[in-house]
This record gives sequence, structure tokens and C-alpha cells, in this order.
Amino acid sequence: MKALVKSRAERGLWLEDVPEPEIGINDVKIRVLYTGICGTDLHIYEWDAWASSVIQPGLTIGHEFVGEVVAIGSNVDDLAIGQIVSGEGHVVCGRCRNCLAGRRHLCAHTMGVGVNRNGAFAEFVVLPMSNIWQHSKGISLEIASIFDPLGNAVHTALAFPVLGEDVLVTGAGPIGIMAAAVARHAGARHVVISDPNPYRRALAEKVGVTLAVDPRTTLLAKIQNQLHMQEGFDVGLEMSGNPSAFRDMLSNMSHGGKIAMLGIPSEQIAIDWNQVVFNQLTLRGIYGREMYETWYMMTVMLETGLDISSVITHRMNWRDYEDGFSAMRSGNSGKVILDWRDVS
Ligand code: NAD
Ligand code: ZN
Repeated sequence: MKALVKSRAERGLWLEDVPEPEIGINDVKIRVLYTGICGTDLHIYEWDAWASSVIQPGLTIGHEFVGEVVAIGSNVDDLAIGQIVSGEGHVVCGRCRNCLAGRRHLCAHTMGVGVNRNGAFAEFVVLPMSNIWQHSKGISLEIASIFDPLGNAVHTALAFPVLGEDVLVTGAGPIGIMAAAVARHAGARHVVISDPNPYRRALAEKVGVTLAVDPRTTLLAKIQNQLHMQEGFDVGLEMSGNPSAFRDMLSNMSHGGKIAMLGIPSEQIAIDWNQVVFNQLTLRGIYGREMYETWYMMTVMLETGLDISSVITHRMNWRDYEDGFSAMRSGNSGKVILDWRDVS
């Protein structure tokens, strides 16, 4: 089958013919229909310090996908050929304390699809049945293909109650924008998003944020005034990994404010801990999605009017993956998705 493989320990990604994956008794084989390119895939493409320390060359990459079930193992009794599914990208151990207690998203031995095991940028992908999410009718294939990053956004945006609250999102990448849309949908009063990139601020405006601001030219304190806020933001969603964005957020939180951090910093960040202590802030790290409450919440929010379709800005054929990665690299993109329906 055709697959996008990280076959060499250097920059790049190569289209190759590889053997179709085989299924075990608990597995499901899926014919891939659409995939999303994630920032992680770009790191693997670029072969940065993180990628070269984690990735074994020979790996088929990719973890954001939707597809159709084409084969099931003999133990799989609740899935049928033809069903439209996505896969949770973390394959958990099932035996650690957290897994046994039903907190699978906190498994310490998680294996990443397209990172530690072969992924979905291919004609077929195989996953354990416990990683399969069956899509409800009415969810478009394109949206279904980005349930993985939408799940990051939902998990972060709903980490703390947002009803009636003033929410600050730092970083208007695809995940920050989707998180802003979710906070709006979940009843936040004001949702302010910051990003130095004008393309991305414009994209954020399409999902109905109160304001999209350039942190280099607009002080958040001024925004607070403009919106007649009394004390500061109640909830912060850190979606940039950028040190100054995080420090800006800390300086603009209300007493007792709550911050959920999804952004992955590329370096250590020094902060003024006095702000955390004296303002009694809560900081919470967020990784992945909850299995499977986040997936359920995504589905019901989409069914009740959450619209994130504008975050998909580039659609291309899988053969044009180089253009897709270039669009991602430019920063002037939202989600880039590849169409795998025709592989002949
Ligand atoms: P992205 O890189 O596309 O977006 C980050 C955005 O932050 C960019 O638009 C950039 O312009 C902006 N930014 C840079 N400096 C800023 C500043 N000072 N203030 C405000 N914004 C600033 O990333 P994404 O795909 O949207 O993902 C968001 C973050 O979440 C990334 O850091 C990513 O690595 C991380 N991530 C974490 C998980 C997890 O499970 N924890 C999963 C997926 C992604
Ligand atoms: Zn575990």
C-alpha cells in the first residue's frame, strides 16, 4: 500500500510502497479516507531534536484521520465493516494504576499512533478496538478527520467551567481557534484570543471571538478596560507554548483564575511565581484527550451547533503532501487536510 514514511534519519518524508498492516484478534483495520496534518507531523518531517530522539526511522506517520472499517479481528463484536471511524491516537497499556482505574488518558505508558507505532498517512491503518471511535451520522468526513486536534481543544477549553466567564486564549493556531469556538459554545461571556500572526487572527474572527489581538501592539490590560472587565480573565487557555504569551496571561488573570496549558514550550519558561501564589491561580497541564468523554463532548457539541469548519483552510490530494507541509510551515494556514479516497 501507499504510505508516507519517515524512512531516513534526516529532514523529509517519503512516499513509499509498504506492506499492508496485519490485524490481531482485538484489532480493527481501517481504510483511510481523510487525514489532518498536525504540528507533530511537521516536527517529524523537520527532524528536530524532539523528533530525532523519539522516532525510529521506517515509521509511517500521521494520527489525525477518518476512515472506513474494512476488517475486524475475531474478538471484535461491536464494530461492522463499512462503519465510519476515527482512532484515539494514544494506545494505552491497560494495566497501570490509572488505566485500571478507568483514567486511561493518564496512562504513563501510552504509545502514540504515528509516533511510536505506524500511523494513518497510508491507505490502511490498524488499531486496537479499544481505540476506535464510531462517528455519529451527520458529522462530515472532513470534520471527523480532525477529531484528534478538536479533542485537544475541547479537553483544554472544558478543563474549567467557562459559563459566563471571561476567557483568554493565547495562540490562534488551529487548536487555539477551535478552543475559542468551544468556549463560546459553552457559554463564555468574552473570548479574547492573541496571536502575532494576522492570518490567524483573521481566522479566529471567523469563529466568533470577541476580539483577536496582536500581543506585540495591544496590551491585554487595555483590552480588559475596553471590555469593561473588572478584575482580569477568569479562565486562560495557553495554546502557543510561547514564554511571553504565558507570562502575559499570568499578569492578566483575576484572583482565583484558572489556566489550562496545552501549548508545548520549546524551552524552559521562567515566571513570576508571586503572581501564582498571591493571586491563587490554578495551573493545569493538558495532554491529549479524555477517553472517551472528550470524544462524546465533541460529537454532541457539533450536533448542537458548534461550527469549526472555517478552521480547515487547505484541502489537497495525498499525493500533494509536500504542499500541505509547506502550507503548515508558512503559518498562513488553519488545518490542512489530505484526501486519501483515491489511491489507484
Ligand atoms: P500552532 O503552532 O499552529 O499555533 C501556535 C500559535 O501560537 C501560532 O499561531 C503562533 O503564531 C502563536 N504565538 C506565538 N507567539 C505568541 C505569543 N507571544 N502570543 C500569542 N500567540 C503566539 O499550534 P497548534 O497546532 O494550534 O497547537 C497549539 C499548541 O498545542 C502547540 O504548542 C502544540 O505543540 C501544542 N499541542 C499540545 C498537545 C497536547 O496534548 N498537550 C497536543 C497537540 C498540540
Ligand atoms: Zn496504562
